[in-house]
Amino acid sequence: MPEGQIVRAVSGFYYVRTPQGDVQCRARGLFKKKKWSPLVGDWVTYEETEPGEGWVTDLHPRKNALIRPPMANVDQAVVVASFREPRIQLELLDRFLVHAEREGMEILICLTKQDLLEDPAEADAIYQVYSGTDYPILTTSAPTGEGIKALKEALKDRLSVFAGPSGVGKSSLLNGILPTLELKTGEVSRKLGRGRHTTRHVEILDLPEGGQVADTPGFSQLSFGVMEETELGNCFPEIASLAPECKFRGCLHQREPHCRVRTALKQGEIHQTRYRHYLQFLEEIKEQRRY
Ligand code: GDP
Ligand code: ZN
Repeated sequence: MPEGQIVRAVSGFYYVRTPQGDVQCRARGLFKKKKWSPLVGDWVTYEETEPGEGWVTDLHPRKNALIRPPMANVDQAVVVASFREPRIQLELLDRFLVHAEREGMEILICLTKQDLLEDPAEADAIYQVYSGTDYPILTTSAPTGEGIKALKEALKDRLSVFAGPSGVGKSSLLNGILPTLELKTGEVSRKLGRGRHTTRHVEILDLPEGGQVADTPGFSQLSFGVMEETELGNCFPEIASLAPECKFRGCLHQREPHCRVRTALKQGEIHQTRYRHYLQFLEEIKEQRRY
């Protein structure tokens, strides 16, 4: 039986993308059998009963599942922050990064509204903070188009979701990569006799240059919820890579003796700002677990 990816879900219908257009599927019975409902992004086996219509018969294992937007198998989080309006808050940026790491997503940091930045030294200082992480960083601007080409390049070959605080410019960036793309989804929709904007539900869009993107920005949830204290270090790549060299297994890199992370901090291998946020988040997680 053929396989495909769910690119849209609307009131009990799942739209599976195929080269011939989207197949509108139902999935009754599957919920009981598997005890999970299909999500946009899920890879499924389906059966076409009539041209353009059918049934989802099986769900393939997921790489991850997000709550907002409700999506599975998201490869990459494009975490967006703006230089100005609002001014970048690195603590907030690091929160988003931790969330993306927890979901096992690749990360792209996008510093936007570059046109509002007078002093380029400020951008350099931010690059410095993340120099230990290997996260790619792009600077972009919606009105000038700065960095948009590089952004499109970074979206190739994977499914990405934009994330970040409200007002930083996520929608503007999506619009920057959207014009040609709306045409393309328009073609697919016409075939099935549906308009594209009939729903506010999340939809996966195929980018003309390759890659896929969710048409709405997502995961603005910022509390860590239930999380093991030792898990936090894994969400800071520069800490995670050194933690195995700490003397104590389960070292939280606070005051433990022979802590490789704290040595790296003193030697400037780990940035103070990142470490400060790590400690801050750690306290938050401990606080959470008290209840
Ligand atoms: P979102 O909430 O993250 O989706 O942010 P929006 O894309 O809606 O943008 C919020 C505001 O910032 C809007 O008024 C945009 O016009 C403005 N904006 C977005 N990107 C840029 C940019 O690169 N430069 C400037 N100067 N303004 C921008
Ligand atoms: Zn340590």
